[in-house]
Amino acid sequence: MEADPYAREREEMVEYQIRGRGIRDPRVLAAMRKIPRHLFVPKGFERSAYEDRPLPIGEGQTISQPYIVALMTEQLELAPGDRVLEIGTGSGYQAALLAEIAGSVISVERLSNLADQARENLARARVSGVTVIVGDGSQGYPPGAPYDAIIITAATPSIPKPLIEQLAEGGRLISPVGPRDCQDLVKLVKREGRIEEISLGGVCFVPLIGQFGWRGEGSL
Ligand code: SAM
Repeated sequence: MEADPYAREREEMVEYQIRGRGIRDPRVLAAMRKIPRHLFVPKGFERSAYEDRPLPIGEGQTISQPYIVALMTEQLELAPGDRVLEIGTGSGYQAALLAEIAGSVISVERLSNLADQARENLARARVSGVTVIVGDGSQGYPPGAPYDAIIITAATPSIPKPLIEQLAEGGRLISPVGPRDCQDLVKLVKREGRIEEISLGGVCFVPLIGQFGWRGEGSL
C-alpha cells in the first residue's frame, strides 16, 4: 500500500488541535489518527486538510474545523454497537469517524451532489458502515430509530421535535442551536423520558434547511 503523505500532518493535528485542547476520549483520538481527512476535502485542498479551520466543500457548504468535529464526537459518548444518526453528511468525514467508533452510522444529506461526493470519499478512504440517505434530516430518519446518539452538523433555530422523539432512552443528541450566523452548541440527554440540556459553548455552522429547521430556497 502507498505510504500516507499526510501522516505527520494528521498526527500533529491530533496532538496540538485535539489533545492540546482537552479532548481525551481514546476512541475519538484513535479515530482521528486513522481517518485520512485529506480524502474528504475537494481536489486542490488536500494540503489544507489538517489546518485548524473549516474548509469549503462546494454548494456553499463546509467540512467543519477538526477540533469542533472532535468535541462533538466526544460529547456523543459513543460505544461500539451504538445506533447513530448524523444529519448533514457534507463531505462524509464526520460520518467516517462515527462509523470507526460505533461500527455503523446512518447519515442524512439534503443535497444529492454532496451525498454522491461523500459516498465517493468514503469508498476512497475504505470506510464501511456509513449509509448515506438523501432527504430532509430535520425530520430524522424513522426507519433506524431509536438512536443512542444523534448529531446535527448544521445550525437549527431549535432542536427538531422528530429528532428528540427518535432518541433512545439514555440517548445523547448534539446540535448547534441559535441564529443563522453563530450558535450555542447544545447537548441533550434523554433520561427516564425527560430531556436534560447542557451548553457546550459558541460555534458557527451553516444552516439546517428543512421542515423543522430554517426555511430556505430549494427546501425539500
Ligand atoms: N458533517 C459534515 C462533514 O463531516 O463534512 C459537515 C456538514 S456541513 C457543516 C452541513 C451539512 O448539512 C451540509 O452538507 C448541508 O447540505 C447539510 N444540510 C442542511 N440542511 C439539511 C437537512 N435538512 N437535512 C440534511 N442535511 C442538511
